[in-house]
Amino acid sequence: MKIKDLLAKETLSLSFEVFPPKTETGFDSVKTATEEIAKLRPSFMSVTYGAGGGTSKYTLDIAKNIKELYGVPTLAHLTCVSSSKETVRRKIEEIKTAGIENVMALRGDIPAGLETADRSEWDYKHAIELVRELKSAGDFCVGGACYPEVHPESANQKEDIRYLKEKVDAGCDFLTTQMFFDNNLLYNFLYKIREAGITVPVMPGIMPITNANQVARAIKLSGSFMPQRFKSLVDKFGNTPDAMKQAGIAYATDQIIDLFANGIKNVHVYSMNKPDVAQKIQSNLSDILGK
Ligand code: FAD
Repeated sequence: MKIKDLLAKETLSLSFEVFPPKTETGFDSVKTATEEIAKLRPSFMSVTYGAGGGTSKYTLDIAKNIKELYGVPTLAHLTCVSSSKETVRRKIEEIKTAGIENVMALRGDIPAGLETADRSEWDYKHAIELVRELKSAGDFCVGGACYPEVHPESANQKEDIRYLKEKVDAGCDFLTTQMFFDNNLLYNFLYKIREAGITVPVMPGIMPITNANQVARAIKLSGSFMPQRFKSLVDKFGNTPDAMKQAGIAYATDQIIDLFANGIKNVHVYSMNKPDVAQKIQSNLSDILGK
């Protein structure tokens, strides 16, 4: 099923993100974790892609397994910036052969050490080129990434939204946001992109922070603003793993309830291969989701 059709429904739903193993030895445990998450019957599951090789080999295996065993629609991520045209075209054919209809078209991070390199000769410079390629390669439902707090490489939000509009016009059927911890940032962003003429559905991405070490990683990765309410929670419970986990899940649940209450229909949860976290969030919302 295409994600754009799921997003057109009026029902409230959660989708979950998982990531593939880095090596073959980790495959079985990741497969089991992703199957446990699939048993929760989310609206769909996304499987990330390791830019420039690494985990990229297993993205399709995991996505195909979830879809075939549990009938859960899957979204395979694909990055382009550190790949050749030939590799990307081969990957797209593999996705098609695996029967996966939904692809998240990403640029990927610039490989370390090449941040200031001359990119004029690179096969891909921006995600928009991958969006166009996917749309011309088949009947894919294509997603794109967006950044309520501005992509770290952008000079300002106006410029970021201008490029986002070009990416959507090239064929994105929906957008998924980078994680954020203050819903007002999302509401302000939505107002600005709608004003800029971006009308496709936007799925907020919510990251449940379940241990204190994740906080620094999350800030480094996304540059996200941490509200005082969230900082206090980490200060108080950060050294007590079970309490931190409970508080982090409660905080994410609260964010999701507020998003639903303000008109969002599907929230994408960065469940990080943790079935217990996905399960807890879903059960916290059981009456709201009707599950
Ligand atoms: P783009 O849309 O190309 O944007 C990147 C930057 O370039 C922005 O600053 C944008 O404003 C600017 N820009 C865009 N077009 C132009 C143009 N024509 N001229 C000049 N500037 C331009 N990474 C992975 O490696 N694997 C994953 O599976 C993965 N999944 C992700 C899922 C989500 C929901 C998100 C939010 C991010 C994900 N990432 C993933 C990280 C992502 O690859 C990085 O954030 C990357 O730095 C940007 O990717 P993008 O697709 O947003 O790029």
